[in-house]
Amino acid sequence: MPLHDKFGRAITDLRIAITDRCNYRCVYCRTGNDGAQYADLSLDEYLRMVRVLVSLGIEKVRITGGEPLLRKGVVGFVEELSQFRTPEGTQLDLAMTTNGHLLEEMAEPLKQAGLTRITVSMDAVDPAKFARITRVPNGFQRVLAGIRAAKRAGLDPVKVNCVLLRGFNEDQIVEFGRFSRDEGVIVRFIEFMPLEEDRVWSPEIVVTLDEIVRTLSAWKPLRELPPNALSETARRYTFEDGVGEMGIIAPVSHPFCGHCSRIRITSDGKIRTCLFSLFDHDLYREMLRGATDEELAQYIRAVVEKKEARHHIGEPGFVQPSRSMVHIGG
Ligand code: SAM
Repeated sequence: MPLHDKFGRAITDLRIAITDRCNYRCVYCRTGNDGAQYADLSLDEYLRMVRVLVSLGIEKVRITGGEPLLRKGVVGFVEELSQFRTPEGTQLDLAMTTNGHLLEEMAEPLKQAGLTRITVSMDAVDPAKFARITRVPNGFQRVLAGIRAAKRAGLDPVKVNCVLLRGFNEDQIVEFGRFSRDEGVIVRFIEFMPLEEDRVWSPEIVVTLDEIVRTLSAWKPLRELPPNALSETARRYTFEDGVGEMGIIAPVSHPFCGHCSRIRITSDGKIRTCLFSLFDHDLYREMLRGATDEELAQYIRAVVEKKEARHHIGEPGFVQPSRSMVHIGG
């Protein structure tokens, strides 16, 4: 019986953070200091967790972090994952989210190793704004080169994630429309969520789906595209002439928890059933105490059963999780 939670949602999508180290210090994610815990497991330990999860019906695996490309052995890790088969005998849909800083040299090896698709985070197409957000000088050209290398390598589709923050980059919306059309990539705007180390989130900083749609449409009329799947997180749009694709992920203004198919494994081996869970379930501790694969599977089933109905951002009494995105894995 594939994994289901108590609301009947099938859990088919895993995000696994393989490190909590990152070479960027994005203002909406990290403090300016090096606050990471460096509590990474060995890649073999993550592989064992994924193997058990795949036996329970996980079909999509997204490798994330921290910054996954900082992890030595990441290409071999992808290669191992590409050998995994679902109980129906199909290959995994293998994706990665990266800041792209090290991607130019790694795009082709990752594709050869079996990575299916890639998402690169890039929060401005203006190099000075990019540096202000990431707090790293001269990263922009590297990330751009990484995006282009991923396209050349045939990682398809290449998606570019942009978190919009009022006062930082809301003036980049139209520029990203142009970028999608010129570079042939899918751009996805993500509403800023209260998951940052610096506790700067407020509803006023969030640039909402409605505002993004208004701004893009004033530039060029938009046409909405149908979702690729029920559990799709992004509302999808193209322009009138069909050139370019813009997605908007709106967990704050238009939550989509009802169709959530995701669980996460944090870099220190804990299962997180929702980005906004207030506690994690320590799968790694079960491994350390010598659990067999069958026992791990039972543990996972029991944890998934408890998955939250939805998040409560913006509601009275909302409590921000103690761990930020860099530890959870985006
Ligand atoms: N280092 C990689 C990267 O930059 O893509 C992977 C990890 S990062 C935590 C994954 C994604 O989470 C990125 O696209 C990032 O923009 C997004 N993210 C981080 N903090 C966020 C927040 N508070 N709200 C919305 N998205 C956030």
